Amino acid sequence: MMREYRMLVGGAWVEAASGQRFETFNPYTGEAWATLPRGNADDADAAVQAAYGALKRGPWSKLTAAGRGALLRKLGDLMAENAEALARTEVRDNGKLYGEMGAQLRALPQFAYYYAGLADKIEGAVPPPDRDGFFTYTRREPVGVVVCIVPWNSPLALMASKVMPALAAGCTIVLKPSEFTSASALEFGELFEQAGFPPGVFNVVSGFGKEIGQPLVEHPRVAKIAFTGGEESGRRVNELAARHFKRVTLELGGKSPNIVFDDADIESAVNGAVAGIFAAAGQTCIAGSRLFLQDSIHDRFVERLVEVAGAAILGDPNSEETQIGPIATKPQYDKIIEYIAIAKGEGAFCALGGKASELGGQFIEPTIFTGVSPDMRIASEEVFGPILSVLRFRDEEEVVAMANDTTFGLAAGVWTQNIGRAFRMSASLEAGMVWINTYRAVGIGMPFGGMKHSGIGRENGIEGIEGYLETKSVWLNYDGETGNPFVMKIKG
Ligand code: NAD
Repeated sequence: MMREYRMLVGGAWVEAASGQRFETFNPYTGEAWATLPRGNADDADAAVQAAYGALKRGPWSKLTAAGRGALLRKLGDLMAENAEALARTEVRDNGKLYGEMGAQLRALPQFAYYYAGLADKIEGAVPPPDRDGFFTYTRREPVGVVVCIVPWNSPLALMASKVMPALAAGCTIVLKPSEFTSASALEFGELFEQAGFPPGVFNVVSGFGKEIGQPLVEHPRVAKIAFTGGEESGRRVNELAARHFKRVTLELGGKSPNIVFDDADIESAVNGAVAGIFAAAGQTCIAGSRLFLQDSIHDRFVERLVEVAGAAILGDPNSEETQIGPIATKPQYDKIIEYIAIAKGEGAFCALGGKASELGGQFIEPTIFTGVSPDMRIASEEVFGPILSVLRFRDEEEVVAMANDTTFGLAAGVWTQNIGRAFRMSASLEAGMVWINTYRAVGIGMPFGGMKHSGIGRENGIEGIEGYLETKSVWLNYDGETGNPFVMKIKG
Protein backbone atom coordinates (compact mmCIF):
# COMPACT_ATOMS: atom_id res chain seq x y z
CA MET A 1 0.00 0.00 0.00
CA MET A 2 1.39 3.37 -1.04
CA ARG A 3 1.03 6.03 1.62
CA GLU A 4 -0.47 9.31 0.39
CA TYR A 5 0.77 12.48 2.03
CA ARG A 6 -0.81 15.92 1.92
CA MET A 7 0.61 19.40 2.43
CA LEU A 8 -0.15 21.60 5.45
CA VAL A 9 -1.34 25.06 4.37
CA GLY A 10 -3.14 27.46 6.69
CA GLY A 11 -4.02 24.67 9.12
CA ALA A 12 -5.59 22.40 6.45
CA TRP A 13 -4.16 19.23 4.89
CA VAL A 14 -4.41 19.85 1.16
CA GLU A 15 -3.65 18.43 -2.28
CA ALA A 16 -1.62 20.43 -4.81
CA ALA A 17 -3.71 22.99 -6.72
CA SER A 18 -2.91 21.09 -9.94
CA GLY A 19 -4.05 17.79 -8.39
CA GLN A 20 -0.71 16.25 -9.43
CA ARG A 21 1.35 13.88 -7.26
CA PHE A 22 4.85 12.39 -7.43
CA GLU A 23 6.46 9.32 -5.92
CA THR A 24 9.11 9.05 -3.23
CA PHE A 25 11.48 6.05 -3.11
CA ASN A 26 13.09 3.86 -0.46
CA PRO A 27 16.82 3.98 -1.37
CA TYR A 28 17.46 0.58 0.24
CA THR A 29 14.83 -1.34 -1.75
CA GLY A 30 14.62 1.03 -4.71
CA GLU A 31 10.81 0.92 -4.46
CA ALA A 32 8.35 3.81 -4.44
CA TRP A 33 6.57 3.73 -1.06
CA ALA A 34 4.53 6.95 -0.94
CA THR A 35 3.18 9.74 -3.11
CA LEU A 36 3.23 13.47 -2.42
CA PRO A 37 1.42 16.52 -3.79
CA ARG A 38 3.41 18.15 -6.59
CA GLY A 39 3.12 21.79 -5.57
CA ASN A 40 3.63 24.74 -7.92
CA ALA A 41 3.41 28.55 -7.87
CA ASP A 42 -0.28 28.47 -6.88
CA ASP A 43 0.48 26.36 -3.83
CA ALA A 44 3.45 28.59 -2.99
CA ASP A 45 1.13 31.60 -3.05
CA ALA A 46 -1.49 29.90 -0.85
CA ALA A 47 1.12 28.89 1.73
CA VAL A 48 2.77 32.32 1.82
CA GLN A 49 -0.60 34.08 2.12
CA ALA A 50 -1.48 31.78 5.03
CA ALA A 51 1.84 32.54 6.72
CA TYR A 52 1.45 36.27 6.08
CA GLY A 53 -2.08 36.26 7.49
CA ALA A 54 -0.89 34.48 10.65
CA LEU A 55 1.97 36.96 11.00
CA LYS A 56 -0.20 40.07 10.75
CA ARG A 57 -3.51 38.95 12.26
CA GLY A 58 -4.79 36.40 14.70
CA PRO A 59 -3.46 34.83 17.89
CA TRP A 60 0.20 34.42 16.87
CA SER A 61 0.63 38.13 16.14
CA LYS A 62 -0.56 38.92 19.69
CA LEU A 63 1.29 36.15 21.53
CA THR A 64 4.01 37.22 23.96
CA ALA A 65 7.57 35.96 23.58
CA ALA A 66 7.04 33.77 26.65
CA GLY A 67 3.90 32.37 24.98
CA ARG A 68 5.92 31.44 21.90
CA GLY A 69 8.45 29.77 24.18
CA ALA A 70 5.72 27.71 25.84
CA LEU A 71 4.48 26.46 22.45
CA LEU A 72 8.01 25.57 21.40
CA ARG A 73 8.50 23.58 24.61
CA LYS A 74 5.35 21.57 23.86
CA LEU A 75 6.64 20.97 20.36
CA GLY A 76 9.94 19.71 21.81
CA ASP A 77 8.07 17.23 24.02
CA LEU A 78 6.09 15.97 21.02
CA MET A 79 9.29 15.60 18.99
CA ALA A 80 10.75 13.45 21.79
CA GLU A 81 7.58 11.32 21.97
CA ASN A 82 7.50 10.81 18.20
CA ALA A 83 11.25 10.37 17.67
CA GLU A 84 11.00 6.65 16.90
CA ALA A 85 8.30 7.06 14.22
CA LEU A 86 10.05 10.02 12.61
CA ALA A 87 13.37 8.16 12.59
CA ARG A 88 11.76 5.18 10.82
CA THR A 89 10.28 7.47 8.18
CA GLU A 90 13.65 9.13 7.60
CA VAL A 91 15.38 5.72 7.26
CA ARG A 92 12.75 4.58 4.78
CA ASP A 93 12.76 7.74 2.69
CA ASN A 94 16.41 8.69 2.88
CA GLY A 95 18.38 5.51 3.67
CA LYS A 96 19.95 7.10 6.74
CA LEU A 97 21.08 4.62 9.36
CA TYR A 98 18.52 3.99 12.06
CA GLY A 99 21.30 4.12 14.67
CA GLU A 100 22.30 7.60 13.51
CA MET A 101 18.71 8.83 13.12
CA GLY A 102 17.72 7.60 16.57
CA ALA A 103 20.54 9.63 18.14
CA GLN A 104 19.78 12.64 15.96
CA LEU A 105 16.10 12.62 16.83
CA ARG A 106 16.78 12.28 20.54
CA ALA A 107 18.91 15.42 20.21
CA LEU A 108 16.42 17.33 18.05
CA PRO A 109 13.98 18.37 20.82
CA GLN A 110 16.91 20.35 22.24
CA PHE A 111 16.56 22.74 19.28
CA ALA A 112 12.99 23.46 20.37
CA TYR A 113 13.92 23.78 24.07
CA TYR A 114 16.98 25.97 23.39
CA TYR A 115 15.03 28.51 21.33
CA ALA A 116 11.99 28.24 23.62
CA GLY A 117 14.30 29.48 26.38
CA LEU A 118 15.74 32.21 24.18
CA ALA A 119 12.38 33.56 22.94
CA ASP A 120 11.79 35.89 25.91
CA LYS A 121 15.42 36.92 26.30
CA ILE A 122 15.71 38.84 23.07
CA GLU A 123 15.90 42.39 24.29
CA GLY A 124 15.97 45.76 22.63
CA ALA A 125 18.21 48.52 23.95
CA VAL A 126 17.76 51.99 25.44
CA PRO A 127 20.64 53.99 23.95
CA PRO A 128 21.01 57.40 25.62
CA PRO A 129 19.45 60.13 23.43
CA ASP A 130 21.73 62.93 22.25
CA ARG A 131 19.19 65.65 23.04
CA ASP A 132 16.81 66.71 25.76
CA GLY A 133 13.18 65.67 25.96
CA PHE A 134 13.57 62.41 24.07
CA PHE A 135 13.31 58.78 25.00
CA THR A 136 14.96 56.46 22.49
CA TYR A 137 14.79 52.69 22.35
CA THR A 138 15.08 49.79 19.94
CA ARG A 139 12.65 46.96 19.31
CA ARG A 140 13.65 43.53 18.00
CA GLU A 141 10.90 42.47 15.64
CA PRO A 142 10.37 39.28 13.61
CA VAL A 143 11.70 39.70 10.07
CA GLY A 144 8.40 38.39 8.63
CA VAL A 145 7.43 35.34 6.60
CA VAL A 146 10.38 32.96 6.34
CA VAL A 147 10.77 30.34 3.63
CA CYS A 148 12.90 27.41 4.81
CA ILE A 149 14.31 25.22 2.04
CA VAL A 150 16.22 22.07 2.98
CA PRO A 151 18.07 19.31 1.08
CA TRP A 152 17.65 15.54 1.26
CA ASN A 153 20.63 14.53 3.34
CA SER A 154 19.40 15.46 6.83
CA PRO A 155 15.88 16.86 6.46
CA LEU A 156 14.73 17.05 10.08
CA ALA A 157 17.94 18.37 11.63
CA LEU A 158 18.41 21.04 8.95
CA MET A 159 14.79 22.04 9.25
CA ALA A 160 14.96 22.31 13.05
CA SER A 161 17.95 24.66 12.98
CA LYS A 162 15.86 27.10 10.90
CA VAL A 163 12.30 26.66 12.11
CA MET A 164 12.96 26.83 15.88
CA PRO A 165 14.82 30.18 15.98
CA ALA A 166 12.42 31.67 13.39
CA LEU A 167 9.40 30.77 15.55
CA ALA A 168 11.11 31.98 18.72
CA ALA A 169 11.66 35.32 16.96
CA GLY A 170 7.93 35.50 16.10
CA CYS A 171 8.18 34.77 12.36
CA THR A 172 5.80 32.51 10.45
CA ILE A 173 7.04 29.80 8.13
CA VAL A 174 6.69 27.97 4.86
CA LEU A 175 8.91 24.90 4.81
CA LYS A 176 9.87 23.20 1.54
CA PRO A 177 11.75 19.93 2.00
CA SER A 178 13.65 18.23 -0.81
CA GLU A 179 11.60 16.49 -3.50
CA PHE A 180 13.58 13.34 -2.63
CA THR A 181 12.79 13.31 1.11
CA SER A 182 9.63 15.19 2.02
CA ALA A 183 7.82 12.58 4.11
CA SER A 184 9.38 13.35 7.51
CA ALA A 185 8.74 17.10 7.16
CA LEU A 186 5.07 16.48 6.29
CA GLU A 187 4.73 14.19 9.32
CA PHE A 188 6.46 16.83 11.38
CA GLY A 189 3.67 19.27 10.45
CA GLU A 190 1.23 17.14 12.47
CA LEU A 191 3.18 17.89 15.65
CA PHE A 192 2.68 21.65 15.18
CA GLU A 193 -1.06 21.11 15.13
CA GLN A 194 -0.90 18.93 18.25
CA ALA A 195 1.29 21.46 20.07
CA GLY A 196 -1.38 24.12 19.49
CA PHE A 197 0.35 26.48 17.05
CA PRO A 198 -2.30 28.66 15.41
CA PRO A 199 -3.12 27.78 11.77
CA GLY A 200 -0.80 29.34 9.21
CA VAL A 201 2.17 29.78 11.56
CA PHE A 202 3.86 26.67 10.20
CA ASN A 203 3.10 25.52 6.65
CA VAL A 204 4.81 22.71 4.80
CA VAL A 205 4.61 22.14 1.06
CA SER A 206 6.09 19.52 -1.25
CA GLY A 207 7.38 19.65 -4.78
CA PHE A 208 10.37 20.40 -6.96
CA GLY A 209 12.88 23.23 -6.57
CA LYS A 210 12.07 25.07 -9.77
CA GLU A 211 8.30 24.43 -9.59
CA ILE A 212 7.54 25.51 -6.02
CA GLY A 213 10.89 26.43 -4.39
CA GLN A 214 11.60 29.29 -6.75
CA PRO A 215 8.08 30.84 -6.60
CA LEU A 216 8.41 30.75 -2.82
CA VAL A 217 11.76 32.58 -2.98
CA GLU A 218 10.35 35.21 -5.35
CA HIS A 219 7.05 35.76 -3.54
CA PRO A 220 6.71 39.45 -2.58
CA ARG A 221 5.29 38.64 0.87
CA VAL A 222 8.37 36.59 1.84
CA ALA A 223 10.97 38.51 3.84
CA LYS A 224 13.67 35.92 4.36
CA ILE A 225 14.97 32.71 2.85
CA ALA A 226 16.79 30.19 5.05
CA PHE A 227 18.35 27.80 2.56
CA THR A 228 20.50 24.68 2.86
CA GLY A 229 21.56 22.95 -0.31
CA GLY A 230 24.08 22.83 -3.12
CA GLU A 231 26.23 25.71 -4.34
CA GLU A 232 24.43 26.21 -7.66
CA SER A 233 20.92 26.29 -6.16
CA GLY A 234 22.27 28.53 -3.39
CA ARG A 235 23.64 30.98 -5.95
CA ARG A 236 20.30 31.05 -7.77
CA VAL A 237 18.36 31.59 -4.53
CA ASN A 238 20.78 34.34 -3.50
CA GLU A 239 20.41 36.12 -6.87
CA LEU A 240 16.62 35.97 -6.79
CA ALA A 241 16.50 37.11 -3.17
CA ALA A 242 18.89 40.01 -3.87
CA ARG A 243 16.57 41.40 -6.55
CA HIS A 244 13.91 41.92 -3.91
CA PHE A 245 16.35 42.77 -1.07
CA LYS A 246 15.27 39.70 0.87
CA ARG A 247 17.36 38.49 3.77
CA VAL A 248 19.13 35.17 3.31
CA THR A 249 20.91 32.56 5.32
CA LEU A 250 22.75 30.12 3.06
CA GLU A 251 24.28 26.83 4.20
CA LEU A 252 25.98 25.33 1.17
CA GLY A 253 28.60 22.79 0.24
CA GLY A 254 32.12 21.98 1.36
CA LYS A 255 35.40 20.26 0.52
CA SER A 256 36.66 20.23 4.06
CA PRO A 257 40.29 19.49 4.96
CA ASN A 258 41.09 17.02 7.73
CA ILE A 259 44.78 17.56 8.60
CA VAL A 260 46.96 15.04 10.46
CA PHE A 261 50.40 16.09 11.77
CA ASP A 262 53.07 13.57 12.65
CA ASP A 263 52.70 14.39 16.36
CA ALA A 264 49.03 13.33 16.42
CA ASP A 265 47.53 10.40 18.31
CA ILE A 266 47.40 8.25 15.19
CA GLU A 267 44.67 5.83 16.23
CA SER A 268 42.26 8.68 17.14
CA ALA A 269 43.13 10.46 13.93
CA VAL A 270 42.41 7.34 11.86
CA ASN A 271 38.99 7.04 13.50
CA GLY A 272 38.38 10.74 12.97
CA ALA A 273 39.32 10.49 9.31
CA VAL A 274 37.05 7.47 8.77
CA ALA A 275 34.09 9.01 10.62
CA GLY A 276 34.82 12.33 8.91
CA ILE A 277 34.20 10.97 5.43
CA PHE A 278 32.25 7.72 5.72
CA ALA A 279 29.55 8.69 8.24
CA ALA A 280 26.22 8.97 6.39
CA ALA A 281 28.08 7.50 3.36
CA GLY A 282 29.84 10.83 2.91
CA GLN A 283 26.54 12.61 2.23
CA THR A 284 27.13 15.45 4.65
CA CYS A 285 28.16 19.01 3.95
CA ILE A 286 30.86 18.83 6.65
CA ALA A 287 32.45 15.62 5.30
CA GLY A 288 36.24 15.67 5.72
CA SER A 289 36.75 14.78 2.06
CA ARG A 290 40.35 16.03 1.76
CA LEU A 291 42.69 14.19 4.12
CA PHE A 292 46.12 15.87 4.47
CA LEU A 293 48.84 13.60 5.89
CA GLN A 294 52.30 14.79 6.90
CA ASP A 295 55.00 13.06 4.84
CA SER A 296 56.60 11.08 7.68
CA ILE A 297 53.36 9.31 8.69
CA HIS A 298 51.72 9.07 5.28
CA ASP A 299 52.33 5.41 4.45
CA ARG A 300 51.56 3.85 7.82
CA PHE A 301 48.51 6.08 8.26
CA VAL A 302 47.09 5.04 4.88
CA GLU A 303 47.70 1.39 5.73
CA ARG A 304 45.70 1.66 8.96
CA LEU A 305 43.04 3.80 7.31
CA VAL A 306 42.44 1.19 4.62
CA GLU A 307 42.27 -1.52 7.29
CA VAL A 308 39.65 0.34 9.39
CA ALA A 309 37.54 1.68 6.51
CA GLY A 310 37.74 -1.66 4.70
CA ALA A 311 36.08 -3.34 7.70
CA ALA A 312 33.02 -1.04 7.61
CA ILE A 313 29.71 -2.92 7.40
CA LEU A 314 27.42 -1.92 4.54
CA GLY A 315 23.79 -3.00 4.58
CA ASP A 316 20.22 -2.48 5.72
CA PRO A 317 19.98 0.98 7.28
CA ASN A 318 17.44 -0.38 9.79
CA SER A 319 20.03 -2.77 11.26
CA GLU A 320 21.97 -1.57 14.31
CA GLU A 321 25.08 -3.27 12.88
CA THR A 322 25.19 -1.29 9.64
CA GLN A 323 27.82 1.44 9.42
CA ILE A 324 27.33 2.60 5.84
CA GLY A 325 23.91 2.69 4.19
CA PRO A 326 22.85 3.22 0.58
CA ILE A 327 23.23 6.48 -1.32
CA ALA A 328 20.02 8.43 -0.79
CA THR A 329 19.08 9.15 -4.40
CA LYS A 330 19.75 7.60 -7.80
CA PRO A 331 21.11 10.85 -9.36
CA GLN A 332 23.52 11.17 -6.43
CA TYR A 333 24.60 7.53 -6.85
CA ASP A 334 25.32 8.18 -10.55
CA LYS A 335 27.27 11.33 -9.71
CA ILE A 336 29.52 9.48 -7.23
CA ILE A 337 30.22 6.66 -9.69
CA GLU A 338 31.17 9.32 -12.25
CA TYR A 339 33.60 10.97 -9.80
CA ILE A 340 35.28 7.62 -9.16
CA ALA A 341 35.94 7.37 -12.91
CA ILE A 342 37.16 10.97 -12.99
CA ALA A 343 39.62 10.32 -10.12
CA LYS A 344 40.98 7.22 -11.85
CA GLY A 345 41.25 9.13 -15.12
CA GLU A 346 43.19 11.89 -13.37
CA GLY A 347 45.75 9.34 -12.19
CA ALA A 348 44.81 9.06 -8.49
CA PHE A 349 45.66 5.69 -6.94
CA CYS A 350 42.68 3.74 -5.61
CA ALA A 351 43.77 2.31 -2.24
CA LEU A 352 40.31 1.05 -1.26
CA GLY A 353 36.94 0.45 -2.95
CA GLY A 354 36.52 2.44 -6.11
CA LYS A 355 33.37 0.72 -7.28
CA ALA A 356 29.72 -0.06 -6.64
CA SER A 357 29.21 -2.56 -3.83
CA GLU A 358 28.37 -6.20 -4.50
CA LEU A 359 25.19 -5.54 -2.49
CA GLY A 360 23.87 -3.85 -5.62
CA GLY A 361 21.17 -1.19 -5.47
CA GLN A 362 22.50 2.22 -4.47
CA PHE A 363 25.46 0.97 -2.40
CA ILE A 364 28.99 2.23 -3.09
CA GLU A 365 32.10 0.85 -1.41
CA PRO A 366 34.01 3.17 0.91
CA THR A 367 36.68 4.54 -1.41
CA ILE A 368 40.12 6.00 -0.70
CA PHE A 369 42.27 7.69 -3.34
CA THR A 370 45.93 8.41 -2.56
CA GLY A 371 48.44 10.30 -4.67
CA VAL A 372 45.88 13.06 -5.11
CA SER A 373 47.27 16.47 -6.10
CA PRO A 374 45.50 19.78 -5.46
CA ASP A 375 44.85 20.41 -9.17
CA MET A 376 42.73 17.25 -9.57
CA ARG A 377 38.94 17.64 -9.65
CA ILE A 378 38.66 15.00 -6.94
CA ALA A 379 40.61 17.38 -4.67
CA SER A 380 38.53 20.46 -5.34
CA GLU A 381 34.92 19.55 -6.20
CA GLU A 382 32.31 18.39 -3.71
CA VAL A 383 31.39 14.75 -4.38
CA PHE A 384 28.95 14.22 -1.48
CA GLY A 385 29.67 10.51 -1.22
CA PRO A 386 31.99 7.96 0.46
CA ILE A 387 35.10 9.09 -1.45
CA LEU A 388 38.22 10.26 0.38
CA SER A 389 41.08 12.10 -1.34
CA VAL A 390 44.44 11.80 0.42
CA LEU A 391 47.07 14.51 -0.11
CA ARG A 392 50.52 14.83 1.49
CA PHE A 393 52.29 17.83 3.00
CA ARG A 394 55.70 18.84 4.40
CA ASP A 395 54.96 21.41 7.08
CA GLU A 396 52.41 23.73 8.66
CA GLU A 397 52.89 26.55 6.17
CA GLU A 398 52.40 24.30 3.18
CA VAL A 399 49.31 22.57 4.53
CA VAL A 400 47.59 25.86 5.46
CA ALA A 401 48.11 27.12 1.91
CA MET A 402 46.81 23.86 0.40
CA ALA A 403 43.85 23.56 2.79
CA ASN A 404 42.74 27.14 2.08
CA ASP A 405 43.17 26.83 -1.66
CA THR A 406 39.47 26.17 -2.27
CA THR A 407 36.38 28.25 -2.87
CA PHE A 408 34.70 26.42 0.02
CA GLY A 409 35.14 27.23 3.72
CA LEU A 410 32.77 25.15 5.80
CA ALA A 411 34.75 22.98 8.23
CA ALA A 412 38.28 21.76 8.99
CA GLY A 413 39.87 19.16 11.28
CA VAL A 414 43.36 19.29 12.82
CA TRP A 415 45.07 16.40 14.60
CA THR A 416 48.09 17.37 16.71
CA GLN A 417 49.38 17.11 20.28
CA ASN A 418 51.15 20.47 19.97
CA ILE A 419 48.97 23.09 21.64
CA GLY A 420 50.67 26.03 19.96
CA ARG A 421 50.13 24.47 16.56
CA ALA A 422 46.49 23.78 17.42
CA PHE A 423 45.88 27.47 18.15
CA ARG A 424 47.84 28.64 15.10
CA MET A 425 45.97 26.29 12.80
CA SER A 426 42.54 27.23 14.17
CA ALA A 427 43.34 30.87 13.39
CA SER A 428 44.82 30.24 9.91
CA LEU A 429 42.21 27.92 8.42
CA GLU A 430 39.50 29.59 6.37
CA ALA A 431 36.53 27.64 7.69
CA GLY A 432 33.41 28.38 9.71
CA MET A 433 34.16 25.49 12.06
CA VAL A 434 37.53 24.06 13.16
CA TRP A 435 37.80 20.83 15.11
CA ILE A 436 40.98 20.02 17.03
CA ASN A 437 41.54 16.31 17.74
CA THR A 438 37.93 15.57 16.86
CA TYR A 439 35.73 15.80 13.79
CA ARG A 440 32.06 16.44 13.16
CA ALA A 441 31.32 17.68 16.70
CA VAL A 442 28.19 19.85 16.58
CA GLY A 443 25.93 21.19 19.30
CA ILE A 444 22.94 23.47 19.54
CA GLY A 445 24.86 26.21 21.38
CA MET A 446 27.67 26.50 18.80
CA PRO A 447 27.21 28.54 15.62
CA PHE A 448 27.19 26.43 12.44
CA GLY A 449 27.95 27.74 8.97
CA GLY A 450 30.57 28.47 6.39
CA MET A 451 32.90 31.06 4.93
CA LYS A 452 33.43 31.80 1.21
CA HIS A 453 31.19 29.75 -1.11
CA SER A 454 30.06 27.56 1.79
CA GLY A 455 27.46 30.06 2.82
CA ILE A 456 26.27 33.27 4.40
CA GLY A 457 25.25 33.61 8.04
CA ARG A 458 25.22 31.16 10.91
CA GLU A 459 22.67 28.77 12.36
CA ASN A 460 22.42 27.49 15.96
CA GLY A 461 23.44 29.23 19.16
CA ILE A 462 22.34 32.73 20.14
CA GLU A 463 23.67 33.97 16.81
CA GLY A 464 21.20 31.61 15.11
CA ILE A 465 18.22 33.82 15.99
CA GLU A 466 19.76 37.07 14.74
CA GLY A 467 18.91 36.36 11.10
CA TYR A 468 15.20 36.21 11.96
CA LEU A 469 15.07 39.63 13.64
CA GLU A 470 14.95 43.24 12.45
CA THR A 471 15.92 46.19 14.65
CA LYS A 472 13.56 49.14 14.78
CA SER A 473 14.71 52.44 16.36
CA VAL A 474 11.99 54.42 18.11
CA TRP A 475 12.35 58.15 18.93
CA LEU A 476 9.80 59.38 21.42
CA ASN A 477 9.56 63.13 22.01
CA TYR A 478 7.96 63.80 25.39
CA ASP A 479 8.46 67.59 25.87
CA GLY A 480 6.16 68.91 23.15
CA GLU A 481 8.91 70.49 21.00
CA THR A 482 9.99 68.70 17.83
CA GLY A 483 13.54 68.90 19.10
CA ASN A 484 14.72 68.74 15.51
CA PRO A 485 16.55 71.84 14.28
CA PHE A 486 15.94 70.89 10.62
CA VAL A 487 12.15 70.67 10.87
CA MET A 488 10.45 73.81 9.58
CA LYS A 489 8.17 75.52 12.08
CA ILE A 490 4.62 75.48 10.76
CA LYS A 491 3.19 78.98 10.70
CA GLY A 492 -0.37 80.19 11.19
P1 NAD B 1 19.94 21.14 -3.90
O1 NAD B 1 20.56 22.47 -3.91
O2 NAD B 1 19.74 20.42 -5.18
O3 NAD B 1 18.47 21.21 -3.24
C1 NAD B 1 18.27 21.77 -1.97
C2 NAD B 1 16.85 22.28 -1.87
O4 NAD B 1 16.72 23.41 -2.71
C3 NAD B 1 15.79 21.29 -2.33
O5 NAD B 1 14.66 21.40 -1.47
C4 NAD B 1 15.44 21.78 -3.73
O6 NAD B 1 14.14 21.45 -4.13
C5 NAD B 1 15.59 23.28 -3.55
N1 NAD B 1 15.88 24.02 -4.78
C6 NAD B 1 16.64 23.65 -5.83
N2 NAD B 1 16.67 24.63 -6.76
C7 NAD B 1 15.92 25.66 -6.28
C8 NAD B 1 15.58 26.96 -6.77
N3 NAD B 1 16.01 27.40 -7.96
N4 NAD B 1 14.81 27.74 -6.01
C9 NAD B 1 14.37 27.31 -4.80
N5 NAD B 1 14.65 26.10 -4.29
C10 NAD B 1 15.43 25.28 -5.02
O7 NAD B 1 20.78 20.28 -2.86
P2 NAD B 1 20.66 18.74 -2.51
O8 NAD B 1 21.24 17.95 -3.63
O9 NAD B 1 19.27 18.43 -2.06
O10 NAD B 1 21.60 18.65 -1.21
C11 NAD B 1 22.97 18.46 -1.27
C12 NAD B 1 23.71 19.76 -1.07
O11 NAD B 1 23.34 20.37 0.16
C13 NAD B 1 25.21 19.56 -0.98
O12 NAD B 1 25.89 20.49 -1.80
C14 NAD B 1 25.54 19.82 0.48
O13 NAD B 1 26.83 20.24 0.72
C15 NAD B 1 24.52 20.82 0.85
N6 NAD B 1 24.32 20.81 2.32
C16 NAD B 1 24.82 21.87 3.07
C17 NAD B 1 24.68 21.86 4.45
C18 NAD B 1 25.19 23.01 5.30
O14 NAD B 1 24.71 23.17 6.41
N7 NAD B 1 26.14 23.81 4.85
C19 NAD B 1 24.04 20.80 5.08
C20 NAD B 1 23.58 19.74 4.28
C21 NAD B 1 23.71 19.77 2.90
